Amino acid sequence: MTTLLLSNPASLNHLTPPGHPERPDRMRAVALTMAEDRFSALTRGEAPEGDLDTVALCHDNHYIDELRHIAPTTGMAYIDGDTAMSPGTWEAVMRGVGGAVAATDAVMKGETANAFVATRPPGHHAEINKSMGFCFFDNAAIAARYAQRKYGIARAAVVDFDVHHGNGTQDIFWADSTVMYCSTHQMPLFPGTGASGERGEHDTVVNAPLASEDGGLKFRAAFDNLILPQLRKFAPELIIISAGFDAHRRDPLATLNLDATDFGWVTRKLMDVADATAGGRIVSVLEGGYDLQGLKESVGEHVIALMGA
Ligand SMILES: [Zn+2]
Repeated sequence: MTTLLLSNPASLNHLTPPGHPERPDRMRAVALTMAEDRFSALTRGEAPEGDLDTVALCHDNHYIDELRHIAPTTGMAYIDGDTAMSPGTWEAVMRGVGGAVAATDAVMKGETANAFVATRPPGHHAEINKSMGFCFFDNAAIAARYAQRKYGIARAAVVDFDVHHGNGTQDIFWADSTVMYCSTHQMPLFPGTGASGERGEHDTVVNAPLASEDGGLKFRAAFDNLILPQLRKFAPELIIISAGFDAHRRDPLATLNLDATDFGWVTRKLMDVADATAGGRIVSVLEGGYDLQGLKESVGEHVIALMGA
């Protein structure tokens, strides 16, 4: 079995203001890397549009309607200083959801060993009823809930190594004992949540905050000592990765100072857990990563690891 790469062609039409770090060039950078010979064994496809009923597994219906009406036909509609919609945003967002869902279908049906969804905008800051931090709908969270509803997965895990805390995913699963949410993130940093004492109503939220310039050794220790043991104990039947690469040392938004190889390392560690408890099933969804060179190197290490190389 191979690794599935789903790309979101509408991602290029989600425009952000000049100078915004979350920009279409990120998708072009990922596409350039995925076009290298070493990725020729990937199975490739395009993310289909998701449907609103699936979005409603994680987001409030009133919020979904509101966002659909905010989506502009010309110009930009600002939700906050960081988060804006252009005319192409809605399709990009809905294909992000559809990509996460289609990847989950392919993995759950055993058509592929694992999958990576190359999409933007990212999702992990989107709360049940709030857009923020460049995010509108939480693709990773939606994939986890969708797998539960459609395939009867008893326990799913979302593991988030983006340098920012996934406040949206934590919000969605805070009181849900069937989904574990694990995150490493730089702290203090946007959005301000993710202290180690935030553990959810059922002890299924695992936050491992790291400090500025902690680097790869402390990142790996957070996984070895805290996240991986909790994850093994929880024994998820599917692992969703919120794959953000803004912890890379070149990234302009943070100073955690990871190297691309750290992302390969953590990917293989998560594959070990997935092999032990989830039949190897992993769906990885792109989140952040704002230095194009750092993003290319990191996504390369991540996907090569998923391919078993
Ligand atoms: Zn981030």
